[in-house]
Amino acid sequence: MLDALSKNISDQLNTGILILDHDFNILMWNRFLKVHANKSDKDVIGNSIFKVFPELPRKWFERKLSSVIQLKNQSFCSWEQRHHLFELSHSRPITTDSDFMAQNCTFMPIEGENGAERICILIEDVTDVCHYQTQLTKVLQELALANRIDGLTQTFNRKHWEECLASEFSRAVRYKQDLALIMLDLDEFKVLNDTYGHQGGDIALIETAKSINELLRMGDLFGRYGGEEFAIILPNTDLAGAEEVAERIRIDIANNIIEFQEQNITVTVSIGVAVVNEQDLRYEDLISHADIALYQAKKLGRNRVCIAKKKVVA
Ligand code: GH3
Ligand code: MG
Ligand code: MG
Repeated sequence: MLDALSKNISDQLNTGILILDHDFNILMWNRFLKVHANKSDKDVIGNSIFKVFPELPRKWFERKLSSVIQLKNQSFCSWEQRHHLFELSHSRPITTDSDFMAQNCTFMPIEGENGAERICILIEDVTDVCHYQTQLTKVLQELALANRIDGLTQTFNRKHWEECLASEFSRAVRYKQDLALIMLDLDEFKVLNDTYGHQGGDIALIETAKSINELLRMGDLFGRYGGEEFAIILPNTDLAGAEEVAERIRIDIANNIIEFQEQNITVTVSIGVAVVNEQDLRYEDLISHADIALYQAKKLGRNRVCIAKKKVVA
């Protein structure tokens, strides 16, 4: 198939080479494949590629190779499309997610003796690329998440939460949907800090956030608005629905006993609720309404829910 010089060169390459006839029988392979497939010439040469490598996705592979022959065009399959086609061992001194070598495969039509149609498959070992790319993607995803999450309470941070509100607000206005906002502030938190120390205050914040989270629905967007102030966006929720959620949160928190260094801490919250109305032009208007209601709840004695007044248009 190959002269001595070509064979010598192909055996030195760090890439797998397979040559098939148009019935997909293997006519030649190189040393790289022999080492990584751990099979002998006897079991490979002259045999169907599907017998030698039963793991191949046969239908897909036949379609791919047929089009290479018919169109006389190269074709490619990267590790991103399919991690590997051939179950070959890799010899990288790194831990990877797969037992098999990640591969980029190129399929090329070539001409054999007397113009016979042949297919050459080049199999490139891209295990390192795959490994580092996968690691990088994971780190980038973690970074993106860390950029959105408040380190202490694991709720959305202010910046991300406000971005969510901006997009929920414009969606609600455009499609005339309900949208409610709950602003919530822990009562007398300075006193709590003075009594139990900053660490106790931190635990109270963490546990309160956890309790609230358990009471919310999938689509609700819960964030830390400031020090001991939280905010919840409730898409597709009207005033009555939001008030019910707010009241449930208030009662749940007031009944929650937080254990800290063998002491029991209890906290209460004041809550302001507002819903989008026709006069709201910007999402900041919704925040101000909820904020005013929250201030009202504080003024009326704390541990209560107040609803933003709907403006009467003259
Ligand atoms: P009010 O009922 O009117 O809300 O009184 P308050 O004491 O809760 O309100 P104020 O805004 O005066 O105090 C908030 C306190 O929350 C002051 C600040 O030190 C504390 N705080 C803010 N962020 C954190 C935090 O991350 N951890 C702890 N432990 N305390 C915090
Ligand atoms: Mg407070
Ligand atoms: Mg506050």
